[in-house]
Amino acid sequence: MTIQADETPELSVIIPVFNEGDNLRPLAARLIPALACVESFEIVFVDDGSRDNTMEVARELNASDPRITAVSFSRNFGKEIAIAAGVDAARGRGAVIMDADLQHPPEAIALFVEKWREGYQNIFGVRRSRDTDSAARKWLTAHFYRLFRTFGEIGLPEGAGDFRLLDRVALDALKTLREQARFSKGLYAWIGFKSIGVPFDVAERHAGESKFSYRKLTRFALDGLVSFSTVPLKVWTYFGMAIAAFALANALYYVVETLIWGVSAPGFATLVVSITFFAGVQLISLGVLGEYIGRVFAEVKGRPLYLVQERVGGPRGAAVVGAPAKSVSANTVSANTEKAKF
Ligand code: UDP
Ligand code: MG
Repeated sequence: MTIQADETPELSVIIPVFNEGDNLRPLAARLIPALACVESFEIVFVDDGSRDNTMEVARELNASDPRITAVSFSRNFGKEIAIAAGVDAARGRGAVIMDADLQHPPEAIALFVEKWREGYQNIFGVRRSRDTDSAARKWLTAHFYRLFRTFGEIGLPEGAGDFRLLDRVALDALKTLREQARFSKGLYAWIGFKSIGVPFDVAERHAGESKFSYRKLTRFALDGLVSFSTVPLKVWTYFGMAIAAFALANALYYVVETLIWGVSAPGFATLVVSITFFAGVQLISLGVLGEYIGRVFAEVKGRPLYLVQERVGGPRGAAVVGAPAKSVSANTVSANTEKAKF
């Protein structure tokens, strides 16, 4: 069961963590027995710039069990980026991605592994219900999915989230996608490979509160739509054409009206309403352009996805050398600063 730090484990477990100090120990206590279904494993906590004792707990866990490792970020980069860092750091022949708050039952991993052994490469957990979410969040999620189904370029399986097992081929494919505005659910669907859903029951959060405010969720939903659809960008062409056709018909009507009945002055209300309405429409279309241009700008800058503050356990150094060009370690950062001085 135990492995040397430089051996390839059969399975990596990637866990993004943000202020989850109270959850790591209970999680490890349930996760390790649940991983008896594989030959060997490593647990990779990706600390997304926590401000609590998350990293201290991670260091202690690593000291008592070297199969538990951690990577920490220099600040909060968001769950989607934390997952990307976990995928970069994972050395397993496959990897499970799961939340730290025990909402994703570790026992379901055995079911994922069963499907993996049958040859599936992209095994996703499907929530049986959304009862643990608030009514408002459920309503918003349902509408987002409806919108995505209509406009999105890829299909998202209903109820599928981040809780999943990816084979090495799928992990390597995911590693090539270095986009900044990351909508992981879309990326998992985009890479494809032999996929299958496995139902599971979502539990209540173990300790603490959800880290997703409605503001964060809205941003995430926008990232999803903009990353996987150009419909909002193109729809204005058709809208503009329809308005132009209407304006032309209207002009013709006024010409005929003036020829028959002469000039009439009324129409002030119509004028004000149409000016303000169309000004609004134009601003909305500019705003949509802005959403896309803002994301293009972020990509063009080509900044690394994340910056590493600390690595705990695992093959030290090797992770830095082996990491993709865009993931910079703390070492590289200080080296660059050094150069800048001279
Ligand atoms: N998380 C993260 N960075 C963030 C927000 C959340 O790494 O900026 C992690 C969090 O620690 C947890 C997982 O993402 O392990 C899911 O977060 P949460 O339980 O708050 O989300 P919810 O279950 O409400 O969707
Ligand atoms: Mg949660």
